[in-house]
Amino acid sequence: MSTPATLIADDLLRTQLHIAGGWRDGSAGESSPVIDPATGETVAEVAVATPDDMVAAIDAAQEAFAGWSRTPAPQRSRILRRWYELIVERADDLAQLLTAEQGKPLAEARGEILYGAGFIEWFAEEAKRLYGEVIPTNNPDRRMMTIRSAVGVTAAITPWNFPCAMILRKAAPALAAGCSMIIKPAEETPLSALALAALAQEAGIPAGVLSVVTGSGPRLGEVLTRDERVRTISFTGSTEVGRILMAQSAGTLKRLALELGGNAPLIVFDDADLDNAVKGAMDSKFRNAGQTCVCANRIFVQDGIHDAFVEALGREMAKLRVGDGREPGTTQGPLISPAAVDKVRRHIDDARDKGARVVQGGDLTERGRTFFTPTLIVDASPDMLLAREETFGPLAPVIRFSTEEEAIRMANDTEFGLAGYFFSRDIGRITRVSEALEVGVVGVNTGLISYEGAPFGGVKQSGIGREGSRHGIEEYTDLKYICIEGVA
Ligand code: NAP
Repeated sequence: MSTPATLIADDLLRTQLHIAGGWRDGSAGESSPVIDPATGETVAEVAVATPDDMVAAIDAAQEAFAGWSRTPAPQRSRILRRWYELIVERADDLAQLLTAEQGKPLAEARGEILYGAGFIEWFAEEAKRLYGEVIPTNNPDRRMMTIRSAVGVTAAITPWNFPCAMILRKAAPALAAGCSMIIKPAEETPLSALALAALAQEAGIPAGVLSVVTGSGPRLGEVLTRDERVRTISFTGSTEVGRILMAQSAGTLKRLALELGGNAPLIVFDDADLDNAVKGAMDSKFRNAGQTCVCANRIFVQDGIHDAFVEALGREMAKLRVGDGREPGTTQGPLISPAAVDKVRRHIDDARDKGARVVQGGDLTERGRTFFTPTLIVDASPDMLLAREETFGPLAPVIRFSTEEEAIRMANDTEFGLAGYFFSRDIGRITRVSEALEVGVVGVNTGLISYEGAPFGGVKQSGIGREGSRHGIEEYTDLKYICIEGVA
């Protein structure tokens, strides 16, 4: 019988560091296991980099930057396009790899790969449109203009929940702008990053332009933040680590793009289309088993639609099939680790203690380990842990409300501000609530908002900067003003 590891294409199963166009072990000879969250088995042993290895990657990125940034944009664009095509061609193989290390169902893994590849396609085009401007002069002897130039060496530090997409939405604009980039993927999920680097090499991305350095975040992050040559660090992960990176980067005045945690509200008003609101809640809450930064974390439902919504949501939740992401029919995979299970349990216990009712689920499925039953809680309230912290699991808590003002006040009562969703058919309310929600991304009558052509990012403690769209390249470019005198 085939094991998860045998389902992975050999040429994409890379376990060494990718530095300066070569593949090598960490200089201390250490490795760390990548665990399949569905089985607990080791998928592969991956090299652990030392700080010296990271310095070698920065050296290579600095050297490669000179040539890559001078490569004409159409040529960079064609190479990136080739990378995009290779990823799409190998989407099924990459999906096997992603599911083996992360757990999500194969169909979702494939969706993530195509979504991630979309950023390369989009920014490959954008590379050719990095326009400057000519400024009307205030002096006949002078001409004034701006150009956008690549910042230099950049780095990406990424989480385990989207091992492919979180990398590509950083690497695509960085390389399109002419920067070189070093990727430090999460220790749980380094294999997708390494496979993407193998395909980048095959596509003709020059040595040193894209490196992948695997190992400990704190150890390697310190090298990246302290090195003056690294001009931008783009980080996706927890708010806590975002704060550490910002403090560590003060000494070198680095530019930081921070995509941090969320605590998304999803509000269902009485005038919503019930079926659509339930679909939106399912899409937003249960993708990746609830382990996304834009997952609905708090579901606010107005009095008049409350009971019908809870009943319909429960019916849809009961249809989810929890299992190994490789099994046909699985719609919800395992959680990433036993620690993730503990957090969901802690939120459920706290909610029960404070008076909420668990009407569905509440514990692991009969498979045990990391397989958690989709859980529906009613009579939840804003003082519960599940409303204060990101649960990052398949837990849908419903909080009842009466008025629009009350819903907005509760929705904004959090330090986070990434995504927010609401369901209504009243155009006045749609306008008012869209404007009032303190978030970077609003989904109205939908639970799915991600698209490479639209800006994604948070406000408050959810981050700084935007990814995707024409704004997503700004972190990787400097605006340079050129004033030429002696023209008249
Ligand atoms: P995490 O613990 O912050 O880790 C993310 C990355 O940071 C990993 O590569 C980790 O490396 C590294 N890291 C940890 N400590 C570091 C340090 N001191 N210096 C430098 N790097 C360090 O987050 P996670 O648990 O993997 O991911 C879940 C979080 O990501 C959630 O809060 C979620 O909301 C957020 N997220 C946000 C977005 C968004 O777009 N806003 C998208 C997805 C996820 P190691 O693996 O070595 O620890």
